[in-house]
Amino acid sequence: MAFNKRVKIQELFTQDYVGKEIVLMGWVRTKRSNKNVSFIALNDGSTIKNYQIVADPNQIDEELLKKATTGACLKIKGTVVASQGAGQSTELVASHIEVLGEADAEKYPLQPKKHSLEFLREIAHLRMRTNTFGAVFRVRHALAFAVHKYFNDKGFFYIHTPIITASDAEGAGETFKVTTLDLKNPPLTEDGSINYKEDFFERETNLTVSGQLEGELAAMGLGEIYTFGPTFRAENSNTARHLAEFWMIEPEMAFYDAEDNQNLAEDFLKYVINYALENCQDDLEFLDKRAAEEETSKKADQRSELGLLERLKFVVNNDFERLTYTEAIDILKNSNHNKKKKFQYLVESWGVDLQSEHERYLVEKHFKKPVILTDYPKEIKAFYMRQNDDGKTVAAMDILFPGIGEIVGGSQREERLEKLTQRMEEMHIPTEEMWWYLDTRRFGATPHAGFGLGFERLVQFVTGMGNIRDVIAFPRTPGHAEF
Ligand code: ATP
Ligand code: MN
Repeated sequence: MAFNKRVKIQELFTQDYVGKEIVLMGWVRTKRSNKNVSFIALNDGSTIKNYQIVADPNQIDEELLKKATTGACLKIKGTVVASQGAGQSTELVASHIEVLGEADAEKYPLQPKKHSLEFLREIAHLRMRTNTFGAVFRVRHALAFAVHKYFNDKGFFYIHTPIITASDAEGAGETFKVTTLDLKNPPLTEDGSINYKEDFFERETNLTVSGQLEGELAAMGLGEIYTFGPTFRAENSNTARHLAEFWMIEPEMAFYDAEDNQNLAEDFLKYVINYALENCQDDLEFLDKRAAEEETSKKADQRSELGLLERLKFVVNNDFERLTYTEAIDILKNSNHNKKKKFQYLVESWGVDLQSEHERYLVEKHFKKPVILTDYPKEIKAFYMRQNDDGKTVAAMDILFPGIGEIVGGSQREERLEKLTQRMEEMHIPTEEMWWYLDTRRFGATPHAGFGLGFERLVQFVTGMGNIRDVIAFPRTPGHAEF
């Protein structure tokens, strides 16, 4: 007999069930009792809202009710009735309760009180049962769905690029090695280095830092493609915006120049944020209040002027500011912030890489809106970015968001074989090994462009969560790979 004949709590708020006998299953959030009756707030994860169960001790065995403590999992049969109490329009009068799983009140770590995010990270296996993480992961799901919907509706094809690669040429960051060699006793070559010819792939391999290069190959046949997969960077940076394992969305488009690329990125970001606004109202309202509470514990100058929902609507409804790196350097150099030496890294000359403090100054203090920075010095960008006619800059773009900093990095790609190989040689990137990449410039080359969006940074922006560890189910960071 099939077990799952339940109604999801979410449906009770959108459809009329009054008078119907139904089965609910879910976890007890709270229970309060007087001598006549017990009220159980039940949550099944389908919505942030709990549903009220009314249990009459004449109907339900008291010993059983005692086991319905916070965290216990219940199956409840009952009838939906119009509610007399304030706070809900209907409730379930229980006729039968089964305890599917008890939760010893002495040991269950999630009590109905406020827990710190740090504590919840240590019990990440249980934190999905809290309001905050329920909301975050429902929003994360909606955003992922919106990503696929956006590209599908536009005729882009979803390409699965490899997770194990042999090219670390992109130089996006330190890689994790992939090997089956015996680490204690690896085979050696004559000069004493590890002989990867004897390894599984007969060469050195690592986890991918980006699907871009393979994405470009696909775009050169399919036209417009995107990837959406895990990427790995062994960067030892313990920031609130870096993970060792994160998900990246990387569209790559044939016949796009730098401006087409910027237009797509802006349109795409607005679409997915708007999708969350339209489809995650309850969760975003909860997260908005949560963020507002958190703001009160910040110093006055670190508080954001807009609330979470206001911020999301603002991004959807306003053009992003577009300017070149060179213009940005001028703004930063002449800013009072720089003159009063308030930056940790002072901006003195053209050519320096922008630190996140500079990016945030531009976005949060100067423009007060998302910024698309373009045309960076070629020295601080990757080899594949298209060289501009000035000989100094490349057709790069970074998109900077309030509270986040860089959320997107992209560029028009160098499609001219000579220019590309020349730049690779300057940057000591082995051209023979990258023969397959260069082939797309040898045969049927065309202008093309693309970008990478860090999915967790997008989820951070939309949920208002300050730490990237709180928007991925089981974060991987230096020293942390539990769960
Ligand atoms: P940053 O300067 O912030 O480290 P990056 O220049 O290394 O970023 P790219 O290599 O351009 O970033 O990667 C594309 C996007 O991937 C970034 O815009 C960002 O949204 C995201 N991203 C990069 N590194 C990480 C990371 N370690 N954890 C989570 N997201 C990341
Ligand atoms: Mn980085």
